[in-house]
Amino acid sequence: MTKLDAYRDIVGSDVIEELYLLGEKLSGTVVQNINSTSVGGGVAEILSYMVPLLNDLGVNARWDVIKGDEKFFLITKKIHNALHAVKEKFTDSDFHYFLQVNEQNLRELDLYGDVIFVHDPQPIALIADRKGSEGKWAWRCHIDFSQPDRKVWLFLKEFIERYDCAVFSAPSFARALAVRQVLIAPSIDPLHEKNRELPPDVVEPVFSRYGIDLTRPVITQISRFDYLKDPLGVIKAFQLVKKSMDCQLVLAGGGATDDPEGEEVLEKVKHEAFGDPDIHVLLLPPASHLEINALQRGSSIVLQKSLREGFGLTVAEALWKAKPVIASAVGGIPLQIRHQYSGILSHTVEGTAYWIKRLLNDAEYAESLGLRGREHVRNHFLITRHLRDYLMLFLSLSHPEDVVFL
Ligand code: UDP
Repeated sequence: MTKLDAYRDIVGSDVIEELYLLGEKLSGTVVQNINSTSVGGGVAEILSYMVPLLNDLGVNARWDVIKGDEKFFLITKKIHNALHAVKEKFTDSDFHYFLQVNEQNLRELDLYGDVIFVHDPQPIALIADRKGSEGKWAWRCHIDFSQPDRKVWLFLKEFIERYDCAVFSAPSFARALAVRQVLIAPSIDPLHEKNRELPPDVVEPVFSRYGIDLTRPVITQISRFDYLKDPLGVIKAFQLVKKSMDCQLVLAGGGATDDPEGEEVLEKVKHEAFGDPDIHVLLLPPASHLEINALQRGSSIVLQKSLREGFGLTVAEALWKAKPVIASAVGGIPLQIRHQYSGILSHTVEGTAYWIKRLLNDAEYAESLGLRGREHVRNHFLITRHLRDYLMLFLSLSHPEDVVFL
């Protein structure tokens, strides 16, 4: 029995049997994942549970992380922001340094995969050495690509088109490219420490440890401290709600080693929250999975007020816990939330405040949104569906002679 068998009760045995069949076809295939951080953010989160499960299925999945200094990650953060339509200034030396760090990593990294699966822009230029490897190359983009900055897009496009295929999270991110494109939405692991069922006697102490009163409504957003997650907008919405309703706000998150902007954003958030004992700004250490699970479970409403979003794993995490979620209609979030059915899609600070009040005043409606959200996640955004999509992708790349429907 492998870890995968534990998912039978959640998704049904047919789904698991199919994964074993696909895994057999890929037995021994080496899939080398490469990204830029081992902790923090959604990409590392997914790889941390995807890689062991692929191995359980017989795929020889590995995970390597490129190295970069602060200068490199400041540039890649600007690239990330610019792809999310934030105005950023680039100099030629930025692109030059980006390539230099990728070249340095190429010298140190062994490219051994039958499939080399590169995640996000930071390591994208490793493809420059594809002649040095026999493998097939796939580029996995976790970013909202719907309105990229033109200069950055043209820079990246040149690399993307050297891959065998590009994988995007949502249909709206697909772009005109000379390579095959595949749409694969991310997922959450329902058995992970972050998502598994928790009894109240585990949830409650987490809230009391942070001085949060569970007898009063709690509104929570879990996110890296990043402008694009709009923590300042969350505080504004909360302040509007607070005028007429009693509630508390939790803004909890940590940093990622490839995100140098976090401290500055955290300071701004603390400044805005200063003086209100009902706003709890929590700086979480890495691997605070149980705390995040408990915070999501114990909250009355979960927010994800992002200005841009790749997919927004935190939305799926909260929906899986049957929480009413109010989230911005950006990036992959509308895939997860059908407005007023499996959650609420908001567009503004005022809209967010309006819906917080509505849901706090109508617990039955709020509960029905959460329950439908949970089923939607069960059907579309659990790791088992994601594994299937990846196995099909690897098959189509490494066994092109087999017919694979994607
Ligand atoms: N997360 C975490 N610690 C934090 C903040 C976030 O473990 O301090 C997790 C969060 O629960 C989710 C992932 O990191 O699993 C964030 O993924 P998402 O797609 O929401 O956003 P990203 O950070 O990738 O932009």
